[in-house]
Amino acid sequence: MEVKTSLLDNMIGVGDMVLLEPLSEDSFLGNLKKRFDHSEIYTYIGSVVISMNPYRSLPIYTPEKVEEYRNRNFYELSPHIYALADEAYRSLRDQDKDQCILITGESGAGKTEASKLVMSYVAAVCGKGHEVNKVKEQLLQSNPVLEAFGNAKTVRNDNSSRFGKYMDIEFDFKGDPLGGPRLSLLGSLAVFWFDLASVHIVLSELVSPAEVTETKTEADSRGTNEPLSARLSQSDTKMVCEKQLLTCDLVRPSWLATRLLFQAYYARDALAKNLYSRLFSWLVTRINESIQAQTKARHKVMGVLDIYGFEIFEDNSFEQFIINYCNEKLQQIFIELTLREEQEEYVREGIEWTNIEYFNNAIICDLIENNQNGILAMLDEECLRPGTVTDETFLDKLNTICADHQHFESRLNKNSKFLNDHSLPHNCFRIQHYAGKVLYRVEGFVDKNNDLLYRDLSQAMYKANHSLIKQLFPEGNPAKVNLKRPPTAGFQFRASVGTLMRNLQTKNPNYIRCIKPNDKKASHIFTDSLVRHQVRYLGLMENVRVRRAGYAFRQPYEPCLERYKMLCKRTWPHWKGPAREGVEVLMADLQIPTEEISYGRSKIFIRNPRTLFFLEEKRKQC
Ligand code: ATP
Ligand code: MG
Repeated sequence: MEVKTSLLDNMIGVGDMVLLEPLSEDSFLGNLKKRFDHSEIYTYIGSVVISMNPYRSLPIYTPEKVEEYRNRNFYELSPHIYALADEAYRSLRDQDKDQCILITGESGAGKTEASKLVMSYVAAVCGKGHEVNKVKEQLLQSNPVLEAFGNAKTVRNDNSSRFGKYMDIEFDFKGDPLGGPRLSLLGSLAVFWFDLASVHIVLSELVSPAEVTETKTEADSRGTNEPLSARLSQSDTKMVCEKQLLTCDLVRPSWLATRLLFQAYYARDALAKNLYSRLFSWLVTRINESIQAQTKARHKVMGVLDIYGFEIFEDNSFEQFIINYCNEKLQQIFIELTLREEQEEYVREGIEWTNIEYFNNAIICDLIENNQNGILAMLDEECLRPGTVTDETFLDKLNTICADHQHFESRLNKNSKFLNDHSLPHNCFRIQHYAGKVLYRVEGFVDKNNDLLYRDLSQAMYKANHSLIKQLFPEGNPAKVNLKRPPTAGFQFRASVGTLMRNLQTKNPNYIRCIKPNDKKASHIFTDSLVRHQVRYLGLMENVRVRRAGYAFRQPYEPCLERYKMLCKRTWPHWKGPAREGVEVLMADLQIPTEEISYGRSKIFIRNPRTLFFLEEKRKQC
């Protein structure tokens, strides 16, 4: 049996970590580094793709490369993100399995770039023709628009996604794209902190003329052609804020003035944030309308998920808490599907198996999202409680209820372990996430979760002459006053993460695990400790171990026999007996070594990808 050199070439390291000898954390890192130094940024762990951010453009995304990877088996060529995209697309087209591409990694690791590469690859290889090309163009063009609104520069990434994006691309039965009707956002977090000045800038940069700036007739009737942002801030917003400040001046003593001043600041920020996030949601709706599939024909779906990566800043607040929760959930799904599910399948199928230990972060997800005593539930409870509610009362509550949780740390925790821990200030709590410890400052948690906009501000917005602004604040319509409290930000987020996870679980997952080589956003630098940390928390070693101890490929007997029966005279064209026996005859006839194969209750398990590759090659020669 031929061994493909692309996966075993020692000069540039081993292409699949499953084949690495000997396997240790050091050899794993050494292999990544060797490959990175040779500009080989992709490495497999079985079907999982590890992607190292090169921080420079590499000549590996050309149309020629697309052609090279097109319709080729996953293990046939050197590791590449195109191989994963091709495999996912072909499974969708040929095996009728809905797919999802899950891209994970910390901020700046290359997730968004990876998602764009996958989408452009799929666009390049699927269907042709005027209509299909139009759909493809629309799908690809939605990215820059969303990024223009939803990305921002952070210390970790110059083009950091401040929103989570999940895009379902629908294909018809031939594998041509129909559109992407379910682009959904996991809540926009772009705009929690900025002053009105930045709102001016951002809004005046919007210039998407027809709707965002006023129509010419509207402007003429008002005698102005100022952009919307200047008018907005100068009139409505400023007026409301000033009204409150004025009240501050009139009513002394000063503590009251200070309080009102803060209320005015709050009102201003809440309005700016609402304006921006509603505009963003409106934009998503418009994109969805334009790329909506026009047919009700049977379709298959490929979902691409690109979220904001795990974040640790010096100062972490509600936004980081939400972002990290989302990453925690994705890690959980990875564990469920690749580690737990894999091991459970061996047991189910009666395959001999020794369990491999791994850290299951379900306990951290529970700390955050448990309906009764999870942090989000407690925050909601606090926000809805009558009486004086502050960030401090929220922290007190956490300290009482989470005190004994092994992933929760607080100085005021009755657990005395942290009483003298000066790295843990009194106004903070710390969570031991799967990816590291993060210190959260509670200030602002209550307000941000409440996400309330004063009613008079909604009404002022509704009264605006600008039709889009009016449309963005429907609750400001005095005829439709709704006294029901809107759901909190945390509640909405938890619900949309839950929906997303349920959606992902119905699809066949394809993983891209992005790694950041250094903290300097620089090319050619591989910081050992930083990469080691990511390899650890992403659970990549456990991933290789499970994969190595296990089987690279499995398939129920019937489709396996159907696919390869042409390779053996005894099974071709018809096999009369049970499918399992047919497969056994087939494998024996092909002289596949017995240690390569296990026969489970309903499936055949093949240990090494090379065996599968061998079978596929034989099939091609027939
Ligand atoms: P965040 O969670 O903050 O959104 P991210 O994981 O989405 O981060 P990206 O924005 O995809 O990170 O990548 C950060 C930067 O790294 C890109 O702007 C680009 O400069 C560089 N980069 C990432 N992947 C590649 C690649 N495959 N080739 C060249 N440069 C890349
Ligand atoms: Mg991103």
